[in-house]
Amino acid sequence: MSELACETDWRQRILIGGFAPATLHDWPGRQTATIFLRGCPWRCAYCHNPQLQRRGREPGLCWADIEARLNDPRSALEGVVFSGGEACVDRHLPDAIAAVAAMGFRVGLHTNGAYPDRLAAILPLLDWVGFDLKTDYDHYDTLTGVPGSGARASESARLVVASGVEHEFRLTWHHSIMTEEAALLAGHFAHHLGARRFVLQQFRPEGLRPDAQPGVSDVPMHLIAALAALFEDFALRRELCGLAEPLACVPERIPNENTDRSAITSAPADDQSRPFDQH
Ligand code: SF4
Repeated sequence: MSELACETDWRQRILIGGFAPATLHDWPGRQTATIFLRGCPWRCAYCHNPQLQRRGREPGLCWADIEARLNDPRSALEGVVFSGGEACVDRHLPDAIAAVAAMGFRVGLHTNGAYPDRLAAILPLLDWVGFDLKTDYDHYDTLTGVPGSGARASESARLVVASGVEHEFRLTWHHSIMTEEAALLAGHFAHHLGARRFVLQQFRPEGLRPDAQPGVSDVPMHLIAALAALFEDFALRRELCGLAEPLACVPERIPNENTDRSAITSAPADDQSRPFDQH
C-alpha cells in the first residue's frame, strides 16, 4: 500500500464523535479545539458523554471536515485536544495527533488511562495531558464497572508523571459516587506520584442520562482544603470541560475561563446548582 493510501485509510477509519471548534475549558489557559473520538471501555454511571461510549460509525464529521476547520485562517487556536469517550481506544489516534501537530498546533489529550501501552507510545507526541482520576484504587473497578481498571489507570498515571509532559490530574467528586476518604486517597496517590497540578471538579449534571442524575452535592470545604494542601498547583473547577454535544459539530463556545487556580474557598451559594465533571 502506498504512503498516500495509508494516510487516506486512517482518515477514513478514525471514528469522530464530536468537534468543539473553540473552547477555553478543555485545556485550561489555552484556546483550543476539541476532537471527540468514539468509544470507551468503561461504564461510569455518571458519564457525561454516554453517546460516545460505544464505537460505531454514525453520520457526522469526517476528518476532512475537521482539517478544514482547523486550517481556517481566521482561527486563533493555540492547540487541539483529543477527548472522548476515551481517545486512546481509537488506533488511529497517533496518526491524528501527528496530523494536527504537522499543522502547527500544540496537542493535548484527555485520558482516563485505560490503555497504558497506547498512552506510553503517544506521550512523546503530546504537549499536555488532562488525566481523569476516577477514585482511589480500591473503588475503581466498582465505579467504572470494569475489573482491572484501577490497575490500568494507576500505571497510566505513573507514565504521565514520569514522562515530564505538562499535565493536570482532575478528580470529580459527588457524595453519591465517592466518599471523602476515597477522594483523599486518590489525591494522595497523585501527590506521591509527583503530579504537579491537581483539580477538584465540582460535579455537574450536563450530559447525564435522566436516570443517572445524582442531584446536587457541594464539595465540602475540609475536603477542598485537605487536597489543596497536597499540591503546589491546586484548583477547584466549577465549569464543565470535555462535554461533547449530541450533534457531531458543536457551535463555537468561548466562555469565560473561570477556573480559579488560587482560590480554595467554597463554592458560592448561587453556584450550588452547578455540580462537576470528568472528561
Ligand atoms: S466517564 Fe469517561 S471513563 Fe467513564 S464511561 Fe464516560 S467516557 Fe468512559
